[in-house]
Amino acid sequence: MQRRTVWLIFAVVLLAALGFWRQWQVLQPDALTLRGETMGTTYSVRIAGRPALSAERLQALLTERLGQVNASMSTWDPRSEISRINAAPADTPLRLGADLRIVLAAALALSRATDGAFDPTVGPLVNLWGFGPDRGSGEPLPGAVAEIQRRIGYRHAELEGDVLTKTREGLQIDLSAIAKGFGVDALARVLEANGIRDYVVEIGGDLVVRGHNPQGQPWGIGIERPDEAAPPGEALQAVVRLEAGALATSGTYRRFKRAQGGVRHHIIDPRTGYPTQPTLAEVTVYAPDCMTADGIATALMVLGVREGMAWVEARPGIEALFVEEGADRTLRRQFSSGFPALQPPQ
Ligand code: ADP
Ligand code: MG
Repeated sequence: MQRRTVWLIFAVVLLAALGFWRQWQVLQPDALTLRGETMGTTYSVRIAGRPALSAERLQALLTERLGQVNASMSTWDPRSEISRINAAPADTPLRLGADLRIVLAAALALSRATDGAFDPTVGPLVNLWGFGPDRGSGEPLPGAVAEIQRRIGYRHAELEGDVLTKTREGLQIDLSAIAKGFGVDALARVLEANGIRDYVVEIGGDLVVRGHNPQGQPWGIGIERPDEAAPPGEALQAVVRLEAGALATSGTYRRFKRAQGGVRHHIIDPRTGYPTQPTLAEVTVYAPDCMTADGIATALMVLGVREGMAWVEARPGIEALFVEEGADRTLRRQFSSGFPALQPPQ
């Protein structure tokens, strides 16, 4: 036989074996995966080991919890708690439900920590640029941007305990940049409450991890390259092995937008009123919980690589991966100093 033929047979056998192994991994009995749709995207919950309750019961509990989070925070639902608060007049005390209070408090803390790069009152600008529930017609006039800028500002949302007072007429609260992360954490708490300790919970690519996979190893999480032209073997730009913690990605990259299934998003710099620099394709953040990771990922898109990296390095327990797109469409990755420790040794 020719040497080339031998190699070919070897390659075919190897591929078949790998395929079989992957199938075995998926089919093994002590792993459970539940899936569904929420927040304009999909979710998945992966569990190692056998939970004490049935898959149907667990799915019902997860669905119920997601329903509560959406009824509280969805700006796309005119009957949600947040929509009612946005319709309410200024200078009247508004009592918030427990979920909304937690998320708004976190959003306002992040606004202060980033000096307004993150701002949960940015909604009217998001709409003006054509990305929110009330879609604008596209490129707005500079005068319109300045006019809306005068109507926003996180300092006009005063939260004391569970009472919010809007001190500016027409102030809108938009928690889209952080609510998904909260949803992930909320589902993880449902699992914990049912004695589940080994899981990955994910909504639209943002996730939280705890414990081990069915093989008893830390969960391996691949971070995809934001590059639709990347060959399959090179589609991962990093693999991290986690036993605890959360990862969230924020981006304006073409592929990312399409993956959102019609719910286009855009990130606006509240300080200029304009969308963020298109050269920063996406940011992935590691944090102890997913609400924190989600909020910071959006904030770092606004701060940009230089300012954002300094912000991350000053905060222990937070790591980030910035992906910039060069003029020739090549991607440039920059990791914060602690990020490599999340990856397995090469
Ligand atoms: P995704 O929802 O796709 O995961 P993000 O978490 O980055 O992405 O959230 C993007 C959303 O955040 C936007 O659709 C908008 O509603 C809101 N947003 C945009 N700019 C800002 C900002 N500077 N601060 C806070 N929220 C923002
Ligand atoms: Mg976010």
